[in-house]
Amino acid sequence: MNWYTEQWSEDCKFSISYDEHLHSEQSPFQKIDFYKGKEFGTFFTLDGLMMVNEKDQFIYHDMIVHPAFATNPNIKKVLIIGGGDGGTAREVLRYPTVEEVVMVEIDERVFRLCQEYLPVTAEGVEEDPRMSLKFEDGLAYVKEAADASFDLIIVDSTDPISVGEGLFTTAFYQECYRVLNTDGILINQHESPYFAEYADNMKKARHKLSTIFPIAEVYQYHMPTYPSGHWLFGFASKTKHPITNLDAQKWNAFGLKTKYYNTDLHLGAFALPSYVREALKIA
Ligand code: SAM
Repeated sequence: MNWYTEQWSEDCKFSISYDEHLHSEQSPFQKIDFYKGKEFGTFFTLDGLMMVNEKDQFIYHDMIVHPAFATNPNIKKVLIIGGGDGGTAREVLRYPTVEEVVMVEIDERVFRLCQEYLPVTAEGVEEDPRMSLKFEDGLAYVKEAADASFDLIIVDSTDPISVGEGLFTTAFYQECYRVLNTDGILINQHESPYFAEYADNMKKARHKLSTIFPIAEVYQYHMPTYPSGHWLFGFASKTKHPITNLDAQKWNAFGLKTKYYNTDLHLGAFALPSYVREALKIA
């Protein structure tokens, strides 16, 4: 039996058996591998870290997209940074209110290979007329973007290492603040509270965001193939609070069928365990 193994902490590893190693290449940015196994179907890794798999991708993509739309159901212009597998764009494009989606992915090979091996996330994205795909550095794109030009920015990035590092800096968050309109929302990768290295990244991200945005919250979801299975996104905004501005009635009126997200879960997702609140210094 073949095993894909990922180091989750110094003393903990996670393994998935696979039947086929479908593809392997070194792009100018990272090492890309696609595997096919029984438990999680097709999955791909970047630099040896699990990104997306057929089985649990719905959890990640529901949670990175829908809480923002349930807080502000009038989102029209969306910027996605990263997100090369297409799953985030796929969920955003389900909203009839959305007029324009710009997706800035640094590595075109990720998107092209997902079109070939992972149609569950990539199929149909490029063809949607509201979609504008750019293969360049998200950091550079945001620096050049006009003030108040987006209602929602979703940072669907890799961890704060290598090409993804700049997407976790105060300078980048400040640019996002500038580029968002008054009701704008920023959703970003927030790592995990459980293993020390990830918890450290979580604390730094929250600290930086809370020095820039008056509303800087953190929410959780259950992700079986990410270290510890307990992962977080950040929710930051100038004016929209994810609990007090939750518009469950309007979101449910969209009539979207979702496998993980619902507006009851929305409330629970922002109710963090005590040790996480303590680590994030939330009173
Ligand atoms: N769900 C995934 C996870 O958290 O494991 C993230 C998936 S998505 C594939 C992450 C993407 O971010 C990668 O394709 C990577 O190329 C892209 N990325 C990393 N740094 C970037 C940057 N500075 N600008 C644009 N895209 C970037």
